[in-house]
Amino acid sequence: MPITHRIYNFAAGPAVLPMPVLEEIQRDLIALPGVGMSILEISHRSKTLESIMAQAEADIRALADIPDSYRILFLQGGASLQFSMVAMNLLGAGQVADYIDAGSWAEKAIEEARKVGQVHVVASTKAEHYARIPEPHEMTFSPGAAYVHITSNNTIEGTQYRRLPDVGDVALVSDTSSDMFSRPIDIRRHALVYAGAQKNMGPAGVTLVIIRDDLVRRATGRKSSLPTMMSYAVAAEHGSLYNTPPVFSIYALGLVMKWLLAQGGLAAIERVNERKAATLYAEIDRTGFYRGTAAAADRSRMNVTFRLATEDLEKRFVAEATATGLDGLKGHRAVGGMRASIYNAFPEDGVAALVDFMRDFERRHG
Ligand code: PMP
Repeated sequence: MPITHRIYNFAAGPAVLPMPVLEEIQRDLIALPGVGMSILEISHRSKTLESIMAQAEADIRALADIPDSYRILFLQGGASLQFSMVAMNLLGAGQVADYIDAGSWAEKAIEEARKVGQVHVVASTKAEHYARIPEPHEMTFSPGAAYVHITSNNTIEGTQYRRLPDVGDVALVSDTSSDMFSRPIDIRRHALVYAGAQKNMGPAGVTLVIIRDDLVRRATGRKSSLPTMMSYAVAAEHGSLYNTPPVFSIYALGLVMKWLLAQGGLAAIERVNERKAATLYAEIDRTGFYRGTAAAADRSRMNVTFRLATEDLEKRFVAEATATGLDGLKGHRAVGGMRASIYNAFPEDGVAALVDFMRDFERRHG
């Protein structure tokens, strides 16, 4: 089968998918083996989808060692809808929710939660352009908070938590949209984890939510006062099939989970991710021509952000890189500069190609 020429895709999401996954989708798109219909055509009440969902869930549980006391939900509305759902389901009247404000997406989560109830910002690095993760000694938690919310990887600013904050018995909620399954995750230290699929897990359209049973129970108490589609309790009761789920996205996510298991699981992919990021950061630090924007200790292994001396030079860098087949390197419009997103499926030879380009660019413009 002829393969169309592929370039290196450094986009922040939707992002590059594993080649074997794309090939399987292509091969089976007209008719799923043994089914005779496309994944795009099957009923969401079919046995086929039932087994695809069950397999995806089983693979997620195996990958991240998720105990039976957590439900796995496939929702829609992106991580952005979770900003609202988390607060609507878990933050009661008279309660306070704690948020760590370490990036632009954390700030958006806070904004949405404030529309629902009382929010306390535990610590913020906004005044430092979110260049680092707050230190534990800077964090002041509310006694008896409804939950503590963090963003495990700050996609825009290129920082990532190395250690989870110690929240004691309080429910830890984490937006892991941009580093889900890029490294082992200790699910037992979390009460709820959510992530849009379109970076590390699949195409856009499905949002993975892993929620502990006691939070589902908490959400059950609010069920009658929430829009049905925004209730975790409803989603859990119906096995994510209250209405038509994003069938294709769940199918593709399932294939990515199978691919991850075949890579050796999360510890194995973490080693690859560390190698890719270390290669890129070493180049950024080599001469001072490039400047990393994130504090060294908090650098993300997923989104590598860096700048050049002038915006003019940055424009040139992005344009020349694009012309050589290195796509998606323009930083988020809110912060400028450059960003290389190197998620699980991003190939190591693509990182090598970027390093070669960076050296060449420096020779010509340094
Ligand atoms: N949180 C983080 C950390 C993100 O990176 C993004 C998307 N870039 C979002 C939330 C919003 O995700 P979505 O577009 O799926 O709503």
